[in-house]
Amino acid sequence: MLVEDDPAIRTALSRALRDAGHTVEMFTGGIPALAAAVERRPDVIILDLGLPDVDGHDVLAMLRAVSDIPVIVASARDDEIEVIRLLDAGADDYVIKPFTAAQIDARIRAVLRRTGAPESDPPLQIGGLSIDPRSREATLDGKPVELARKEFDLLLALARRAGDVVTKRELLADVWQLAWGGGDRTVDVHLSWLRRKLGETAAQPRYLHSIRGVGVKLAAPAEEA
Ligand code: CA
Repeated sequence: MLVEDDPAIRTALSRALRDAGHTVEMFTGGIPALAAAVERRPDVIILDLGLPDVDGHDVLAMLRAVSDIPVIVASARDDEIEVIRLLDAGADDYVIKPFTAAQIDARIRAVLRRTGAPESDPPLQIGGLSIDPRSREATLDGKPVELARKEFDLLLALARRAGDVVTKRELLADVWQLAWGGGDRTVDVHLSWLRRKLGETAAQPRYLHSIRGVGVKLAAPAEEA
């Protein structure tokens, strides 16, 4: 995803990236890009800082509140303090304008290597629970668990952060693509379905632990850890 309001840069860069084999989706403003990024989850975002609707720093901060999609910031400002601030704010890399298409392509490849391309998405194992992101199959103690699409997405989102408490807001963004507003009730309902399919209850959890007022944690049962 290319977020750039300068038409000359946008056209030249998108052409070069397409020639390099990338599929490019272009945005001129930060807010439409943010909404599309959360919904469609590009492999990487190239983000200009000087945008007409909202500053690139704010786009990065809003994105990082709900997503870990890799971001390469493109800026005209060659300033070390600025670079450090952006990297601390969650940028994965930084390029100074003017940059060549070859340089940005190399940085995209480097970022994707670091963050893990989708083709290297191995099954996750948490105790007796195994979740395969590629085949979208889950097993518990070797037996298949039949999950509806959102139930699987919810389980996967929790498994990717096993051991951490994940907030309902993060789950709404990650699983339902509802970044700003949306019902906690949706999460609760799907959690209860997921619990039933994993053969546990909120009162007697094994894998799914609700932390009141905070969120949910997926963790292996103590005896199996
Ligand atoms: Ca600009």
